[in-house]
Amino acid sequence: MASSPFYVSVLYPNRAQSRSVENEMPTAYCVKCKTSIEIKDPQNVTLKNGKPAVKGVCPNCGTSVFRIGKA
Ligand SMILES: [Zn+2]
Repeated sequence: MASSPFYVSVLYPNRAQSRSVENEMPTAYCVKCKTSIEIKDPQNVTLKNGKPAVKGVCPNCGTSVFRIGKA
């Protein structure tokens, strides 16, 4: 079973990477707080150019925030 650890170490990095991205809270820059915040009530939307985006509100001040990319 000497080859088993090698296989795991080769396969695992990709999985761990995509998983951590999926579990990440969608963040956006809040102009009022002047920092990046976790989007509250994130909603997936599609821009006019067909690109995915996320909109929601800042949990600190309630300002609408917007971020390009998937949630
Ligand atoms: Zn804010």
